[in-house]
Amino acid sequence: MKLLVTGGAGYVGSNVVWALHDRGDEVVVYDNLRQGHREVLPGSVRLVEADLADAAALDAVLAEGGWDGVLHFAALSLVGESMQRPFFYLQENAGLGFALIDACVRHGVKRFILSSTAALFGNPDTTPITEETRIDPGSPYGESKLMIERALHWADRIHGLRYACLRYFNAAGADAEGRSGEDHRPETHLIPLVIDAALGLRPEIVVFGSDYPTPDGTCIRDYVHVSDLAQAHLAALGRLDEGSVTYNLGSGTGHSVLEVIRSVERVSGVRVPMRIVERRPGDPAILVASSARIRAETGWAPRYTELDEIVSTAINWRRAHPNGYGNEG
Ligand code: UDP
Repeated sequence: MKLLVTGGAGYVGSNVVWALHDRGDEVVVYDNLRQGHREVLPGSVRLVEADLADAAALDAVLAEGGWDGVLHFAALSLVGESMQRPFFYLQENAGLGFALIDACVRHGVKRFILSSTAALFGNPDTTPITEETRIDPGSPYGESKLMIERALHWADRIHGLRYACLRYFNAAGADAEGRSGEDHRPETHLIPLVIDAALGLRPEIVVFGSDYPTPDGTCIRDYVHVSDLAQAHLAALGRLDEGSVTYNLGSGTGHSVLEVIRSVERVSGVRVPMRIVERRPGDPAILVASSARIRAETGWAPRYTELDEIVSTAINWRRAHPNGYGNEG
């Protein structure tokens, strides 16, 4: 297949690019490199360094033709920032997402995969979360992804664009061969922060709240390995000829913040300095996915089912890249 991957130099995007590359697809990455890293891409993959807001650049790439599909990862993804700059997030994510979908339709692209999110569900009162769980985004970030999901619904209905909306829960871990790992600036995610506290790259981990209605009082999340997420994209691509799909993607197991810290301690053999502070505003107590639908419809199943295995790949990558990308040595 010939595929265009927006945001392909980012964390999840680059792992998907490697999975597509491994199976022999022709991949072109479209990324402005504001958050992505050139070094993370396979050498043979062409990079178009451009912004999605650059309509002429986008048009030029799509006009090359022969595209079997577009996978759309490029987005702003900080929930907290979206609460401070709601219209910036809606414009950047939803607005540019609409423009991309429109360009795909104009250029006859038939398949579209959207990187969507558990943030669509806000603070749900049921667990695990299925595709039928009530949607109620708790932030403009979640809302912006929902708006793109809805736009895709209409693009399919009116123009026959087949789409897959893949709602990730907590993407975690790194490529087992070390080809791609997590390097956000700033880093806000739990696992890389705990690892940095274990490796002495930061002084401690702060735990946001220990008074949640969970067994140990800390929030529970569903950490799914980024390589399993990548395989889910391949599975979804293969399913689109039968129709558009929407899937929740998690490992199906919840782990508390304290369990994550214990896992990093077990795998690294180092005690992690930690401090419990106030809750972080907007954090739901429990977010665990039911991925029964994608399992039943495509046969996909996560290969990384143990938290320690996920953490171990992330630690290996971080040990090899203590300064992240672009600052080696
Ligand atoms: N968390 C924490 N300390 C941190 C970062 C995160 O206690 O420094 C908690 C956060 O409150 C949440 C969980 O870890 O309950 C996962 O947070 P993350 O930001 O990784 O992902 P989210 O679930 O918010 O998308």
